[in-house]
Amino acid sequence: MCGIFGYVGDRPCREFILTALKALEYRGYDSAGIATISSKGKISFVKKKGKVANLDDLLSSLPAENTVGLGHTRWATHGVVSDRNAHPHVSQKFAIIHNGIIDNYLELKESLSSSGFSFETETDTEVILKLLEKNYSKELGIEKALLKTVSSLMGSFALGVMVLDCPEVLYILREKSPLIIGQGQGENLFASDLVALAPYTKNFFFLEDGQFARIKKDSIEIKNFDGSVCHPKVVNLSDYELSTNSKGSYEHFMLKEIYEQERIVSSHIEMFYDLAFEKQRELGVGLKDIDLSKYRQLVMVGCGSAYYAACVGQYTLEKHFRIPVSVFLSSEFHQRKMHVGSDTLVLAVSQSGETADTLAACEYAKSTGATIIAVCNTPYSSLTRLADFTMYIQAGTEIGVASTKAFTATLLALMTLSYSFAKKLGTLESDELSKLIQNLKALPEKIKDVLSCAPQYKELAGKYSNCGNFLFMGRGHLFPIALEGALKLKEISYCHAEGYAGGELKHGPISLVTEELPIVAICPTGVFYKKMFSNMEEVAARQGCIIAVAPRENKEVKGIAETVLHCPDVDDPFLQALVSNITLQFFAYYVALKLGRHIDQPRNLAKSVTVE
Ligand code: GLU
Repeated sequence: MCGIFGYVGDRPCREFILTALKALEYRGYDSAGIATISSKGKISFVKKKGKVANLDDLLSSLPAENTVGLGHTRWATHGVVSDRNAHPHVSQKFAIIHNGIIDNYLELKESLSSSGFSFETETDTEVILKLLEKNYSKELGIEKALLKTVSSLMGSFALGVMVLDCPEVLYILREKSPLIIGQGQGENLFASDLVALAPYTKNFFFLEDGQFARIKKDSIEIKNFDGSVCHPKVVNLSDYELSTNSKGSYEHFMLKEIYEQERIVSSHIEMFYDLAFEKQRELGVGLKDIDLSKYRQLVMVGCGSAYYAACVGQYTLEKHFRIPVSVFLSSEFHQRKMHVGSDTLVLAVSQSGETADTLAACEYAKSTGATIIAVCNTPYSSLTRLADFTMYIQAGTEIGVASTKAFTATLLALMTLSYSFAKKLGTLESDELSKLIQNLKALPEKIKDVLSCAPQYKELAGKYSNCGNFLFMGRGHLFPIALEGALKLKEISYCHAEGYAGGELKHGPISLVTEELPIVAICPTGVFYKKMFSNMEEVAARQGCIIAVAPRENKEVKGIAETVLHCPDVDDPFLQALVSNITLQFFAYYVALKLGRHIDQPRNLAKSVTVE
């Protein structure tokens, strides 16, 4: 959460700090701010509540000639969303930006207050600024003052610090929040995310926890918090893909990303064929050498949509791996300190690879000797660096805050992974593989069919935009899809929605059934069809309102449902989950569109949840 960016060089920087913040805005959009410093050491800054675009009109108040600066787009954790609480926080000598949470800020604030410091904001970040003021003297020097300051902090931080006494330098410090340095020609930059750096350079240093850097236009010095010098390798990402960063002709990134799923599915299928036909192809980083025989349990962890994708993946992994497979919300897993060890394989699912709870879960699992496979979209993210192996989902950059294509790509990656494990373990029946390949061949057409229904979905979803509450139901592989469908709807439309396993209807939620509560029943023809249909009968018997996700040809469903959102039958439960989910993505999108919501940047959310 929160995006930070900094620049040191010869180019006037206020405009492109603003551009970088716009690229980072999906990480947080509560407020934004920019500080620049003149060569004589005068700090100027602007900050404003709301979207980054609110800085457009203020930019001219920053000196045009300044060539050193930093910027921040906030996702508030401590302190209301306001101009005052926006970053940078600026004092007589410093300007700082912060991504993270200082867990002990109340204790620090109390002790600073008793030594005479006063506070202008309610943020945890301001205690860092005041501590730095307290610790800094010209005699001690800035580096020691910074290290003394961070030694008092508990929690997570990626910090950018501008110092009045050294206007040609920016300092950055990292503990459990992402920070990347971009090395340019006669200029250097830093940011929380590659997306903001890639227009300027292809050479990067990825800071690790407990490291800090002193950045000048022609030098980058990286050290550990104990003062020892680090010599990290520069990483060249020449082909880092940025083309997906424009919406093209689509109204929203989310819509564009929904449509991109057809291409993603086709390229994943190709990868799957290669695997099936034993062509030489690297499945994931290092994965072909993994020794599966030593594992007695598989644990999957994730948050939000990544967790629901893992819940779908659990079915196929359990079937093929033939060891117990459990799925946990990352936050619950690491707090529970469950028994894992060297006989445990952990599959950690995170699109960004920076999800704080998932990183914490993996750190705990790793400390017990478990092996980690990252299932991730982002190269060189904290998760892929922590993991023993990585399976890239290859969805391309996802900008819409509500995950769509990354969810689908994760499902496909988990499917490919489970079949490749099955091959390694000899648990794969050849007729099963040929059946799956047949179904995969048909998949792009099924997806095209769903995409072509967009105008109908738009019309039908629009009818329900004023409902306020929804209940989603599915069984088997489609139960996690009911959960994901409900999550998608609440994320972007702000309607209340819950997902239930169809079998649970009678155990509570049926008491909610009225004409006013739409029940979205995912009901393709297949093993659970009869039981789902009974659920629908039970709802209809109570005059409930049914929106069925089912093939339009199904007359039985048509007879009982108020609305049918067409979704073709797919002869494989896993792939059916994938296809039905795209129908529900459209449903959520069009309800939110009708309500006029900020679809790509919904209220209170951020794309990459880098705080616990
Ligand atoms: N905790 C800080 C704040 O609330 C930083 C939050 C962030 O990472 O955006 O201002």
